[in-house]
Formats: sequence, structure tokens, C-alpha cells
Amino acid sequence: MKVETKCIQEGYKPANGEPVALPIYQSTTYAYDSTEHIGRLFDLKEAGHMYSRISNPTVAYVEEKIAALEGGVAAVCVTAGQTASFLSLFNILGAGDSFLCSSKIYGGTINLFSVTMKRMGIECIYFDDESSDEEIESLIKPNTKAVFAETLANPALTVLDIRRLADLSHRHGLPLIIDNTFPTPILCRPIEHGADIVIHSTTKYMDGHAVQVGGVVVDSGNFDWEKNGYACLTEPDESYHGVIYTESFGRAAYATKLRTQLVRDFGTCPPASAAFLLDLGLQTLAVRMEKHSANAMAAAKYLENHPMVDSVSYPGLENDKYHELAKKYLPNGCSGVVSFNIKGGKANAVKFMDALTMAKNVVHVAMVHTCVLHPASETHRQLTDEQLVAAGINPGMIRLSVGIENIDDIIADLEQGLKACE
Ligand SMILES: *Cc1c(COP(=O)(O)O)cnc(C)c1O
Repeated sequence: MKVETKCIQEGYKPANGEPVALPIYQSTTYAYDSTEHIGRLFDLKEAGHMYSRISNPTVAYVEEKIAALEGGVAAVCVTAGQTASFLSLFNILGAGDSFLCSSKIYGGTINLFSVTMKRMGIECIYFDDESSDEEIESLIKPNTKAVFAETLANPALTVLDIRRLADLSHRHGLPLIIDNTFPTPILCRPIEHGADIVIHSTTKYMDGHAVQVGGVVVDSGNFDWEKNGYACLTEPDESYHGVIYTESFGRAAYATKLRTQLVRDFGTCPPASAAFLLDLGLQTLAVRMEKHSANAMAAAKYLENHPMVDSVSYPGLENDKYHELAKKYLPNGCSGVVSFNIKGGKANAVKFMDALTMAKNVVHVAMVHTCVLHPASETHRQLTDEQLVAAGINPGMIRLSVGIENIDDIIADLEQGLKACE
């Protein structure tokens, strides 16, 4: 099946006489005939739902669909994108370990990695993905356990050379974790380019309607945990009577450990009702991404030619710095987010934002509505000027998330915003 078809057909498949819509299994627990059967579930000798802190049937169908969309062996849905980023690392790292991370990532992820995970004794080492292999490799330490980066960085809109970073990571026996939130599996499937783990904030395009927060971790099943010495997956887990994940679960070892240990202990399984809404979003994801990409391309071209605009970043533009990488990794569209710098810096950026009438001024991105955000005074205000620059953010930068309204109305709104700055 092609990816558009998978959006509809994968996951829940009704049997004869069953409802066509994904049922919402609103239940915390599951009935079994014998204690012996439940015992087998507790020993991970048999698959099945026990308690909705760990898994739920509605959620499981959505996980199946997302795993199919990304081309992974298993997916684990969690309560936020932040949770997905954290668990994707914490599944294989602990106190005293470090990981490498591209400096061009989402501001919330920077807080999580630099402040909160530091308190857990985990060190995040940032690198510039445009520096040479040797420079990046020189940062790897004996305790380095993973490499993390975004396909299409939020909000810098740089395109990552996934294959190059995957090869670099694998030369050092490290798994590559990719945050693929902005492209979604419709526009890019990082596993096809060598990524080992893919995470998403499903809050963004996957949901697409701004109705619920969520995240997902997808396991490619391709990383060799045994060969590369990840004891947490190859040695007995006392909390499950000595189960060895790589022995019992083969290619799904990482995903199984993440669910059965971390989702169990942190209680990050999303509610069934949220999974139902996410599934609705996924059903239309392919048509939405096509429209978001086309509208964003038109808006980027309009902005590029406007005298009040200093510069526009959108990898779909022919003279964008990342256009060549976009041709390789985002051949069917560059998603819906455009960033641009208004002449006159922060003051004009604020004037522009306040003059818009249709585009919503919200702390959100990647939804059906067109919306705008000023990173320097909103999402990224906790970053120092140095960190802003490293994250690719100028004080006059506006992040425009182009919706799926008619493009003429979107451009008319941008027009009046820019007029207010003249
Ligand atoms: C929003 C976002 C996150 C965090 O996701 P939440 O669902 O808000 O927790 C992570 N990565 C990227 C690229 C994002 O845009």
C-alpha cells in the first residue's frame, strides 16, 4: 500500500459486522478468565492489555497505523511530543551517559535536554549539523549513547542530511533518533534514510486540528543493540522476572522495553478518546500535507518578493540554502511552515503580528488554521541570544504556519500585516 492508502486502511480493520469507525475503548482495565493468564501477561510471555496506564486497544490501533506509515516495526503513543523525545532517549540512557543533539531543534526540546535531563545526570552535547564529520565525531565520548536531530527543524527550517548523520552515528555504534514532526511520514520517512528511531509531536500535523496533545516513538527495528553493547536491552530486566528484551522481542526490543518499563512507570499512555481523535487526523493527513505544502510554497514566494521582507526561509524555494537537501528528503513538498525576517526587527515583527485579522496569533503550529508566532518573544524567550542564533532565530523572525484555507485569503492577510510595518 502507498502511504496515502495506509492513512485510511492501516490500524483498525473492522471484521464482519463491526463498526467502521475506530471504537473508543473507554476502560482502565481488561477482564481475563484466569490468574494464570494474567500472570503470563505480567511476565511478558503473552501480549495483551492489562491496565490503561500501559496500553489500550484504541491507542494500539493508532500505534499500528503510525508504525506502518513510518515503516517501523512498532510504535508507542505517549501523552506529548516532549514525552516522546524524553522516553526515546531515557529508554537507552541513564545517569552518567551523554548523547549528541543537533543545535537546530525545537525550543521545548532544548529545555528538556539542557535543563531537566541534566538534573538526571544525562549530558546533552550540541553539534552544528553543518560542521564536518570530523568535528561532529570529535564530540562523541565513551559514554555517548545516541544522536538526536530534527528532519526539518522547528523553527529554523533547516533540512537535515539524514543519511550522512545516520552513517556517522552507525560508524560509532550509535542509534540515530529523528524528530520527524514537521514533514510527517507523508513527506519524509527517515527510516528509509537510515534513522533508527523516529519520534513525533502528534499534536502538530498528525492531529492537525489543534484538539489534543500527543507524541509517538517509532522503532525501525533495524538497530543492533546486541552488537553495539546496549546492556539495558540485552541483560535481564528484574522488573519482569528477568526478561531479556532482545531475546524475547527481537526487532521490537526497543519499543517493547519503552512501553513495558517506561510507559508503565511514568503513566504516559494517552487516553482512548485522544487516540480516536488522532486517528481521525491521520485519515486526512496525506491530503492536508499536500495542501499545506502548496499553500506554504505560494506564501513563501509572495513574501520573497515583498519589499518589507528581509529574507524568507522555506526549503521549497529554489534559492533557499536547503533546497538541494529538500529535493532529496522532501521531494513531495516541504510542509506548511515558512519563516521570514521582517525589516525593522522585533518592533515591526510585533506590529505585523498584531495587524493580522485571519491568521491566529497562537502558541501552536502545524494545523489547519493559518497561524503566526514570534519565537523571540514567545516560545524561545527563555533562550539566550547565543542560543537563539544557534537555533537559527533572528529577533525579527516570524514563524508562519500556513493553513489549508484558500491561498488568496492567506496572502491578503499577510499583505495587510506588512502594510502596518511600512
Ligand atoms: C511541538 C514540538 C515538540 C513537542 O511536542 P509537544 O506535543 O508540544 O509536547 C517536539 N518537537 C517538535 C519539532 C515540535 O514542533
